[in-house]
Amino acid sequence: MSAVLTHNSFCRVCSGTKLKKVLSFGPTPLANAFLKKEDLRNEERYFPLDVYLCKECGLLQLTDIVAPEVLFRDYVYVSSTSPVFVAHFEKFAEKVHKRFKLGRESLVMDIGSNDGILLAPFKERGVRVLGIEPDKTIARMAEKKGIPTISEFFSPALARKIKKGFGSARTNFSKKNLRGQADIITATNVFAHINDIHEVAKGVKILLKKHGVFIIEVPYLVDFLEQNLFDTVYHEHLSYFSVSALNRFFKEVGMEIIDVERVETHGGSLRVYAQKKGVLERVTDAVKSFLNREKKMGLHKEEVYRDYAHRIGENRAKLLSLLAGLKQEGKRIAGYGAPAKGNTLLNFFSIGPDILEYIVDDSPQKQGKFTPGKRISVVSKETLEKDPPDYLLIMAWNFAPSIMKKNEAFRKRGGKFIIPVPTPRIVK
Ligand SMILES: [Zn+2]
Repeated sequence: MSAVLTHNSFCRVCSGTKLKKVLSFGPTPLANAFLKKEDLRNEERYFPLDVYLCKECGLLQLTDIVAPEVLFRDYVYVSSTSPVFVAHFEKFAEKVHKRFKLGRESLVMDIGSNDGILLAPFKERGVRVLGIEPDKTIARMAEKKGIPTISEFFSPALARKIKKGFGSARTNFSKKNLRGQADIITATNVFAHINDIHEVAKGVKILLKKHGVFIIEVPYLVDFLEQNLFDTVYHEHLSYFSVSALNRFFKEVGMEIIDVERVETHGGSLRVYAQKKGVLERVTDAVKSFLNREKKMGLHKEEVYRDYAHRIGENRAKLLSLLAGLKQEGKRIAGYGAPAKGNTLLNFFSIGPDILEYIVDDSPQKQGKFTPGKRISVVSKETLEKDPPDYLLIMAWNFAPSIMKKNEAFRKRGGKFIIPVPTPRIVK
């Protein structure tokens, strides 16, 4: 078994050694390590949570890497439980299907395919699909829905196996689905979680047809900065990508970005299209304009991150004084949503059960547990109905409109919401 914590002394993209620490959250427990009642008597494990800027390629990154088997233990996230994401990938499939003129012979592969949320709408359009999902439970859920899925970690070795054909079929599906090269390979919301992205690119190049397109979605550094999304920093998120850092990365691996767009997921993400070098028909103007804009913003400069740290400090003071003022008036406050990012906020701002009486979360896996670090009790919506507070702090801010809509009854009774980003504010 590998070490629980390792430290990179080289940049993940360019191997440069000029790494400058620009944000520090201090030792922090893992954001998804919710505690059971019987865990409360034990001490929790804390790991460094520091963000570094590579002065050579501009990649913002964590360099302290918690081993995936520790990080993702007991961590089951099923994408299709979120209607927002189902709709997002439906649109994604529609667009990609049309733009690249996919047909019955086309093959779309998805790395980190979860329960088939992205591949299902491709399959509905008659395209062959293949998912790669290391979590066996989730992979089985995908297969039940008719999405052929290989339950292994993606690597160049696995890519070679898929290209040649898998030998004996690993799934109930026809073997022809499990071999060959792809027209489209996607990796959405996984690229920022992987330490050795060069290995991923090697595998992708093996599996991509000559004119095939690799499409990734990653949270965008510009949204992270402009909307003060500091809470999206936690140990799972190893990289905070800009187009310029990704441009450098794809050059390093013999590929090129052909197009970029912004999408709304996770508070603001990039969708990046890349092809093998030398085969591209044309690079869209979008790529150039992203690069120019990022240069103007000075994303590779330390000052930008110093200002950012300052703004986060101001927001911390603002939110804490808002909450303390309400407490003084005798108001009761609870949280809504217990996403991973909520725990960065609670731990970094030091908001505990003395301020938030409980946190409501719709996921039965989190209910009855306690948040890592601050140990606030996570409950179902029933508690909110029986014992409503005066204010709800929305930690899952990316779903704020739908949360407020779902809790219209709370609002009608005079309940108010607090949204923490981009700056803390009360919504009546
Ligand atoms: Zn670098």
